Amino acid sequence: MQNRRMPPDTVDSAAHPARGSREVAVLGAGIVGAMVAGALLRDGHRVTLIEPGEPGGEQAASFGNGAWISPASVVPMSTPGLWKKLPGYLSDRSGPLVIRWRALPALLPWLLRFWWAGHSLPRVQATARALAALLHDAPERHLRAAAQAGVAGLVVQRGLLYLYPDRAAFEAETLAWRLRRNNGVLARELDGAALRALLPDVDGRYGLGLLVAAGAHCLDPGAYVAALVRQAQAGGARLLRARALGFAFGPGPQGGRLTAVRTEAGDVACERAVICAGIASAGLAQQAGDWIPLASERGYHVVWPEAPVHLGLPVMPSDGKMALTPTRGGLRVAGQVELAAVSASPDWRRADLLTRFAQQMFPALRPGQAPAGSAPRSTEDSAACAAAPTSRWMGHRPSTPDGLPVIGPSAQNPDIVHAFGHGHVGLAAAPATAELVADLLAGRTPAIDPWPYRADRF
Ligand SMILES: Cc1cc2nc3c(=O)[nH]c(=O)nc-3n(C[C@H](O)[C@H](O)[C@H](O)COP(=O)(O)OP(=O)(O)OC[C@H]3O[C@@H](n4cnc5c(N)ncnc54)[C@H](O)[C@@H]3O)c2cc1C
Repeated sequence: MQNRRMPPDTVDSAAHPARGSREVAVLGAGIVGAMVAGALLRDGHRVTLIEPGEPGGEQAASFGNGAWISPASVVPMSTPGLWKKLPGYLSDRSGPLVIRWRALPALLPWLLRFWWAGHSLPRVQATARALAALLHDAPERHLRAAAQAGVAGLVVQRGLLYLYPDRAAFEAETLAWRLRRNNGVLARELDGAALRALLPDVDGRYGLGLLVAAGAHCLDPGAYVAALVRQAQAGGARLLRARALGFAFGPGPQGGRLTAVRTEAGDVACERAVICAGIASAGLAQQAGDWIPLASERGYHVVWPEAPVHLGLPVMPSDGKMALTPTRGGLRVAGQVELAAVSASPDWRRADLLTRFAQQMFPALRPGQAPAGSAPRSTEDSAACAAAPTSRWMGHRPSTPDGLPVIGPSAQNPDIVHAFGHGHVGLAAAPATAELVADLLAGRTPAIDPWPYRADRF
């Protein structure tokens, strides 16, 4: 692929060796930071991971996501005609997307950019291509990464299934499937009978399925991140349990070279820093001199530890827009997009909506519906009766308005590299992101064209 212009004085130019050994601070140990740390260690850098919480802990989006590792997630949220739906999003509190009125004034500039990003087909096609570059081989990358981290069983490739009530509902998503097809995503159509063979417990209203056989999922995203961080530590990375606050620069032109990351626990001396702090990244990027519009698309999950349904693979219903995923902890139902301030308290009614929708999809999840004494049909996917989900969670998708992450050097100081803003696809896109960051830091010609993700595009 042809690499286009990068900002001048981009990360390590030819003046530096392709494989250098540098002090690199990685800010944040979610899935992106964990993957970036691993890729940098493989290049021989000395890495300090700076993370205030537990790696893979509940504070991170990487803990509670839908666990999909999908090459099909190339469809941006913003598509032509979206503005017509906006009044509904503001008024229908039971839909999959809501905007909190109180947050609206602060969100308006982001929303305008969001609308603009999807206002024309060519723009949406370009976004889909840029997402595909990060996602097309995500399952294989994760299968490899999990095996190398000693947790091979945590990533499984059983396919991902999109469910539709009927052909009309499927045809309403023609654009999405065209974008997927044009980016090499293969999907097989399943009729009602084939669906029921695969999902015997699903409600009869679903008559059509699209199976993306190449898709994978993670059985425990939090444990996966923790394992990747442990692997990085075993490979020599230092984990500093502290919050990064900003940067220190030496004397020189353009503010001078990076000398340290400032943290709650003192300065961490380094030559390069990579910002992977999820929703907190925009504040850190601002410290580096870059303004990046980042909003929290808050999402929720609920978990039935012992759901009395057989679910051999993850499913996503077109009428609910949520991921129902069999995980090690039980049936995880993740979804909802709530645009609200990062600091606003969770609105657990959003989690209740997920519960109710899952109960509509799988009658056996309704209270009192599960057959008494029913035996599990498989060990990790289902078990005997339990009427209600027992845990719920809210987290922040770190989202840019154009649906693409920010990956690459700061426009102000190339010693600082951004790797955040992955919105809905951060789990899946983390390994490719890490490879791109490592290539840029090493001064290699990146295998993935960095242009669509550059920091100064806003
Ligand atoms: C409901 C929901 C469902 C989703 N489903 C999917 C899915 O199925 N597939 C998919 O690919 N993606 C999915 N996503 C998106 C995905 O979870 C995110 O894009 C991804 O987890 C972002 O990873 P991250 O490492 O950038 O951020 P995070 O996971 O949020 O990690 C950031 C880390 O930075 C740390 N940090 C914060 N501030 C600082 C600081 N000042 N200094 C140092 N560290 C700091 C935090 O403690 C945290 O550990 C979903 C998200 C949600 C909310």
